[in-house]
Amino acid sequence: MTAKSSACHPIFIWLRVAPTKGESGLHILVIEDEPRIRAFLGRALEAEGFAVDGAADGLEGLRRALEHPYDLVVLDLLLPRVDGLTVLRELTRRCPGTPVVVVSARSDLATKLRGFELGACDYVPKPFACDELVARVRVRLQARSGGGAVLHAGGMSLDLTAREVTVKGRATALSDREFRVLRYLIEHAGEVVSRESILSAVWGYYFDPRSNVVDVCVRRLRRKLGTDASIETVRHAGYRISAA
Ligand code: CA
Repeated sequence: MTAKSSACHPIFIWLRVAPTKGESGLHILVIEDEPRIRAFLGRALEAEGFAVDGAADGLEGLRRALEHPYDLVVLDLLLPRVDGLTVLRELTRRCPGTPVVVVSARSDLATKLRGFELGACDYVPKPFACDELVARVRVRLQARSGGGAVLHAGGMSLDLTAREVTVKGRATALSDREFRVLRYLIEHAGEVVSRESILSAVWGYYFDPRSNVVDVCVRRLRRKLGTDASIETVRHAGYRISAA
């Protein structure tokens, strides 16, 4: 961002760089307290075209994962603040569609079985070959998209692979922001979702809460979706899509 554009739009001066999608369009969160491992995993996954965010402890990781719809989470188990198994249990409960690949120095059978029981889709013991982990992540994501994951709510079907929404048989392509806002709303269907939580999930944690980008994006979505799909405005609270 240039000094000139910052001067024109002072709001952006304290904007955290929002998560961006990699070439693959898929976004991965790496929760790992060892900075060296976090960094090389990030580089290896980015080299594969994924966008990667890192979290250095269980609490930060859990918060990020709950606020942003990641396509996959790589999770260490021995973590400060909140341990990995607790993070895994909460992730499975609150983001049931998000695959979690556990990487851990705890390679005993009891811990592995506990990991699978709590919802891990894969378990890679440390030390691991980076290529192997990246290959396993790729397989998990292919399996997920090959399954043709489609979310349904509010009379809409959102295809997570094609990134298009279908309403009454009419398919509409979405921009990246529109897709992510709609996905977030559909994943929280039936709940009132505040503008701030959408802002955090889609634009980044430190975006100016006074910004109206969420409202602008919802207006664009409504125009695209027409009257057969409803994104309800809940006065002074946010937005809601019916779970039906
Ligand atoms: Ca660790």
